[in-house]
Amino acid sequence: MAFTKKTVRDIDVKGKRVIMRVDFNVPLKDGVVTDDTRVRAAIPTIKYLKEQGAGIVLMSHLGRPKGDGPEPELSLKPAADKLAELTGYDVKFCPDTYGDVAATAVAEVKPGDILVLENVRFLKAEKKNDPEVAKKLASYGDIFVLDAFGTAHRAQGSVVGPAAHIPAVAGFLLEKEVDTLTSIFAEPERPFVAIVGGSKVSSKIGVLDHLIDSADTLIIGGGMAYTFYLAKGYTVGTSLKEEDWVERAAEMMKKAEEKGVKILLPIDNVVADHFGEDAEGEVVDADKIPDDRMGMDIGPKTRELYAEAIKGAKTVFWNGPMGVFEFDQFAAGTEAVARAVADSDCTSIIGGGDSVAAINKFDLADKMSWISTGGGASMELVEGKALPGVEALLDA
Ligand code: ADP
Ligand code: MG
Repeated sequence: MAFTKKTVRDIDVKGKRVIMRVDFNVPLKDGVVTDDTRVRAAIPTIKYLKEQGAGIVLMSHLGRPKGDGPEPELSLKPAADKLAELTGYDVKFCPDTYGDVAATAVAEVKPGDILVLENVRFLKAEKKNDPEVAKKLASYGDIFVLDAFGTAHRAQGSVVGPAAHIPAVAGFLLEKEVDTLTSIFAEPERPFVAIVGGSKVSSKIGVLDHLIDSADTLIIGGGMAYTFYLAKGYTVGTSLKEEDWVERAAEMMKKAEEKGVKILLPIDNVVADHFGEDAEGEVVDADKIPDDRMGMDIGPKTRELYAEAIKGAKTVFWNGPMGVFEFDQFAAGTEAVARAVADSDCTSIIGGGDSVAAINKFDLADKMSWISTGGGASMELVEGKALPGVEALLDA
């Protein structure tokens, strides 16, 4: 067990009022939640607290408000409605967060009640972890529960603040996310195959570094592969590349070799003459990318090579698509890898917004062991960093 903090199981919540930070940062269109994954993810803890007889006050941010007051299009009301719809519970909503209206609504919360406060980021001080914000939010409950995994890497008022004043414990989602994403590094069942793709090496340096420390095989795809190509002396045409990171890519390959970690790079690519929905793909070998073509996806030989490596894995961690999967003609590489992971008899852990979108696009979410709900937070764990929100909780 890699989770070392107290959870809602370790504290008596009966008859207590709980102030709980959730991650209801959901996408909205015309005031309706278009993807309810994050609301669903918070339900087990909410249900547990309600059944244990706690009164529940929920708070979250949504989007990026300016912080100068209410912005109706970023209200949490649609998320509160979604929670009511999904659970069948009576969920009250308060259009205030820090003022007298909120204080009055909170004071009326009885055991079993659920109240959702308005967007915590309608006040700038929240993001700065202002001590007054911390005190105010702590005054809303006897116990603080953090279940907002997606923001646990941010030292902000509603994430870490209340823990300075009242007993603070984790919810089930936070526990499961942190446990899953740290256990794979502590004690992975081997072979441990890590797959990293996406656009840039620079945004994944910490992830790549930490994976070389623990994985047996590191599969690289997506735009970042071409910076590794440059490090190998291949030409890459007009592919995405980061000249400033070539040396770092070379160092990583060297470190991997010294540690006996196998790095797999694409042996063929699907290239196109421009980046666009109407671009046509053509397959070329790794060292034969024409000067006027860009790599858009891994090629068919690479898909087979990668699928073979994944087939033998006992643990797989995947972050970042293998190509520009948003365009159907360049989605085959990402799909092949997703199917190989789905079919493999392994523990599969997926992190990253676009990777999760890709898995959903291919309808393979059910076949994965764990799909992380946090983008930045999961990457920080994979980089081996501690999350401030988790650090602030009571030790188990
Ligand atoms: P995640 O959100 O899963 O962490 P990233 O944000 O790092 O993933 O990368 C996803 C993006 O990388 C996608 O928008 C995808 O189109 C892009 N990408 C993948 N392969 C390439 C490529 N060969 N050239 C340019 N962009 C690419
Ligand atoms: Mg992304």
